[in-house]
Amino acid sequence: MARKTLIAGNWKMNGLLADGVDLAKAVAAEVKKMGKPGCEFLVCPPFTLLTSVKKALRGAKVALGAQDVHFNPKGAHTGDISPLMLKDAGCQYVIVGHSERRADHKESNELINKKAAAAYEAGLKAIICIGETLAEREAGKTIDVCKAQILGSVPDNADGTNTVIAYEPVWAIGTGKTPTAEDVEEVHAAVRKVLAKKLGKGNANKMRILYGGSVKPGNAKEFLSLPDVDGALIGGASLKADDFIAIAKNSGQC
Ligand code: PEP
Repeated sequence: MARKTLIAGNWKMNGLLADGVDLAKAVAAEVKKMGKPGCEFLVCPPFTLLTSVKKALRGAKVALGAQDVHFNPKGAHTGDISPLMLKDAGCQYVIVGHSERRADHKESNELINKKAAAAYEAGLKAIICIGETLAEREAGKTIDVCKAQILGSVPDNADGTNTVIAYEPVWAIGTGKTPTAEDVEEVHAAVRKVLAKKLGKGNANKMRILYGGSVKPGNAKEFLSLPDVDGALIGGASLKADDFIAIAKNSGQC
């Protein structure tokens, strides 16, 4: 099965109602112009914008996702959002284990695993993020770190339909720095091998592995044309519709 390229925008903690809706409308208009794009589009706004962005995307082939989720379906968890609430708001995807949550909220692989499993239960697809810090890269531990994160945070019932992996070197996020294309392909191929051991070759071959970390229109082709790169998770550049769409167009996959 060919893996359909996923162009995913992570808006992080950005956007008030007016600019979030404008951004979503601009993305929707551009995607509509593309007719039947060969890739899948996704935007992940903050929780407060989910329902308005959903409306703004109406009629466009752009999926909606959230940036985090609690593993319980409901209950006494002040400030948290459940998988069912996300589904109810129109989400198809949820990002779990982003490095900013691993760092800011001390999220463990075990917790991320529970969040992903809970997302599946509610019919959501999980985008599970992994990636090494600069110190880990410099110590030559990139593959080992990613392997441990996969083994710990990917549920045993993950497959190509419910899970997307996002490889995001922490030092490349929002910095303008990127690994070389060779480095990215090496990690993605290693990640797919680990997935094959854990979930079977069939599942691993169907599972999309995105690259994330300072993806821009100018480097989209370099990363997105690699054999084991199945799309991009885009932070900063997803906040400008023109850049987000240019990444898709320049990738040669859409
Ligand atoms: C991200 O936040 O997932 C990300 C990759 O950010 P940026 O594209 O800004 O590096």
